[in-house]
Formats: sequence, C-alpha cells, structure tokens
Amino acid sequence: MSAGVTAPTPELVGARRAEPPGEVASGLLAPQLTHIDAEPYYQPIGDEVAVFEAAYARCLPALLKGPTGCGKTRFVEYMAWRLKRPLVTVACHDDLTTADLVGRYLIIGNETVWVDGPLTAAVRAGAICYLDEIVEARKDTIVVIHPLADSRRVLAVDKRGEMVAAPASFMLAISYNPGYQSVLKEIKPSTRQRFVAMDFDYPEAVVEAGIVAREGGVDADTARRLVKLGELTRNFKGAGLDEGASTRLLVHAAQLIGAGIAPQAACTAAVARALSDDPDMTGTLDDLVRAVF
Ligand code: ADP
Repeated sequence: MSAGVTAPTPELVGARRAEPPGEVASGLLAPQLTHIDAEPYYQPIGDEVAVFEAAYARCLPALLKGPTGCGKTRFVEYMAWRLKRPLVTVACHDDLTTADLVGRYLIIGNETVWVDGPLTAAVRAGAICYLDEIVEARKDTIVVIHPLADSRRVLAVDKRGEMVAAPASFMLAISYNPGYQSVLKEIKPSTRQRFVAMDFDYPEAVVEAGIVAREGGVDADTARRLVKLGELTRNFKGAGLDEGASTRLLVHAAQLIGAGIAPQAACTAAVARALSDDPDMTGTLDDLVRAVF
C-alpha cells in the first residue's frame, strides 16, 4: 500500500440533489453510524460479554466465529450499546473494494468531494466497526484492515495520502462462518492472528427455546417444539444440508405462528423451504415438521 498522494479518481454520481457538496457528503455519511440507545435483547451463551469487554479495554480486535444466524450480529449490537459506542456494520461480499470500505472521491455538481467509506467513518468516530462475513471480501480488500488490527492501529487512506490513527474507543470486529470454509474462502493466518477469536454456536435447547419464545412471541411449548425441529435438522449437516436451521430461522417460524399461520405451514415456509431446494431433502424436512407439530 502506498502512503503517497495519488491522483483523485472521481466517480460520477451526477447531481442527485440540490444541496451544496458538503451537505451531500455528510448526508451520505450519516446513515453509516448507528447509535443504539435502547438495550438490544441478547441472551449471553458463555463468557463472550466479558471477553469482548476485555478486548475492547485493551484495544484488541475481535473475530467472531460461528454458523449463520446464531446471534453474532445481535451480540455486536448489544456490545455497542453496552460500551456506548456507535456501530458501523458492513456486510462483506466478493465485489467489496477497498474504496467501498475506505472511501472515494465523488463528483457532485461541479466539485470533487471526498466521501469517507464506512471503515474510515468508524475509525474517525471511535466507533465499533463490524465486518460481517469477512471471508466473502476480496483478498486485496481484507489487507486494508491489517494495520488497523495490530498495534499500529492506523488506517491508510491512500487516495488522500492520509494515515488515520484509531482512537482508543475504536474497535474492529469481524465475523466468519468456519462451516463454509473452502480453499477459496479461508481466512488467512496473517489476518486471523491479529484477532482475539471467540466461538459462537447455537445455544443449548432450553436457552434457545427462551430466545425463540421471546423473539418470536410464542408460548414456551411452541418454542420448545421449534427448537426440537431445529436440532433434528442440524443432524443433516453434511448429510444433505450445508447447515441445519439457525436460531434465526426458528425465530422466523415463531413469528409466522405468532401472526396466525398454522405451525406446520409456518415451519414448512420458514424452515424446510428455506433450508433446501432438493425435493428429497425438503420431503425429509416436511416429515420432521409433521413429527414435531
Ligand atoms: P448471525 O449474525 O450469527 O448470522 P444474528 O445475530 O443475526 O445471527 O441472529 C439471528 C437472530 O437470532 C437474531 O435476530 C435474534 O432474533 C436471534 N438470536 C440468536 N442468538 C441470540 C441470542 N443469544 N440472544 C438474542 N437473540 C438471539
């Protein structure tokens, strides 16, 4: 990465609004920082709250590992509230460029305006920046977080020739799902060895039922059955399914039931059809639904 000033490479966005450029730029920035005023509901599973707090206090970045829909995002929202920091969340994908994270010059009206990307905005604001599913991002994009995730704690904004030092209140958190790991989508040791790693998984049945009852607004017996269904589907991981039903899917089924959909129909839509397109597999999942409800 060069620290020198490179020529601006403006991207034409057209005159979308009539405000002066400065206002447009801040308007683009504003939605990136979320201030969480009300306590998000988060049911701790182990010592993750204490570990995250200790990492935050020592300016260490966190890597949250675990299957989809097991509460990682909710946990980060809860920690942002608890630590009283704004939160910036980026869903990583394979088109995500360094400019998408760090920022870019835009042509607005007759002016060239620099607009911070979400990562830069988070560093400047001393926020918690959560990069969800980091392995989905391009390898050259992931490298930009390295100097932020070690003792240097700086972000190189190459296009402006600027090094932005992270204040103590800034924290980087990333997540990934080891279950999807493939040769192409592995988190490299040079990246992972910068982070305090924390394991997440679906909680034990009684705890998960509590989450499903509360989030889905269903009674305890319905929540218990939904969790039973979830457990049965998880037995098919690697045997027809990439992953079994997540807590998220069980909450979706509960929400449909709460909205008046019959339990079997709710589970078919929110769980069975969501998990697979394969006719044999969906037939098996339908059998599981009938066995539980
Ligand atoms: P992930 O980020 O791991 O994919 P989420 O945090 O989005 O998953 O969790 C999906 C949903 O599951 C949440 O919106 C919430 O309803 C529920 N959930 C999962 N785990 C918990 C938990 N420990 N406490 C509260 N809600 C949870």
